[in-house]
Amino acid sequence: MQKVLTIMDFRKQFKTEEDCLNYLVEIKWGAGFKCIKCGHGKYSKGRQWFYRRCKECGYDESATANTMFHKCKLGLLRAFEIGFRISVKKKGMSSCELGREFGCQQRSAWLMKAKFQNAMKSSDNYPLEGKVEVDEFLVGGFDENEVGRSLESKQLVVLGVEKVIDKKDNVTIGRAYARVIENASAKKLKPFFEQKIDKKSSITTDGWRGYWPLQKDWNIEQKLSKKGQGFKELHIHIMNIKGWLRGIHHKCKGNRLQQYLDEFHFRFNRRGFLSTILDKLLIRAMELEPCPYKTIKVCEQNT
Ligand SMILES: [Zn+2]
Repeated sequence: MQKVLTIMDFRKQFKTEEDCLNYLVEIKWGAGFKCIKCGHGKYSKGRQWFYRRCKECGYDESATANTMFHKCKLGLLRAFEIGFRISVKKKGMSSCELGREFGCQQRSAWLMKAKFQNAMKSSDNYPLEGKVEVDEFLVGGFDENEVGRSLESKQLVVLGVEKVIDKKDNVTIGRAYARVIENASAKKLKPFFEQKIDKKSSITTDGWRGYWPLQKDWNIEQKLSKKGQGFKELHIHIMNIKGWLRGIHHKCKGNRLQQYLDEFHFRFNRRGFLSTILDKLLIRAMELEPCPYKTIKVCEQNT
């Protein structure tokens, strides 16, 4: 059994705001100090214990400055626990649930979650490898009977999954990535292939012509989809994404869909590393530029 970070573990590690600040100090300066204003490497004590003052230019920086935790209205403890809930809990949590559970306005919970979702965006550093399957699917409206690639109110998503076959021929999915695309032309599919699929992998797609020009650079085999039967595991994954969006985030639409796909796959791709998933999220969150409310495009806040 893999070790999972439980709420008890979390509360043991983070009891107070100071515990959280300490953790952020460690992430920010654990490997050494570097002034963000002038790049100098030496510091003296700042105005409070979680500040460091640059010895060269005098800039006094707090552990939260220039990160998404700066002036966090919910408090760090609640922010960290929201991060815990949405990363460790298999299906995440909607902002309505978070608001109720944390005794804050749903809008505040939504904003914190949106910031964490930004931190869940994949880095493009670990492309899919080995046997890879790619397909597209529509999200929005959830009219499963409509076939074809016309868009209207729906959004098109391209999905790539690693197909893992063990010694007993059991097939499972390794890692997966999904991206919202404007249409299924080769031009729009190509950036996804470039950023998410290793050139040495063996890719299988359906017969769609948008994949033809990509065969120049990738090893692509095309086969009949037979309404998904030809790509069983991949289609189960699509059903899981759709079911999750429908269930917990039933109103997800507009330009937030990519963030929800990022959240889903951040968890999915780390399902084997549940003891460190929160650390990973918090480290990434510290690396992000702070994003004030007005810069996050608000399309639907009830998700
Ligand atoms: Zn400086």
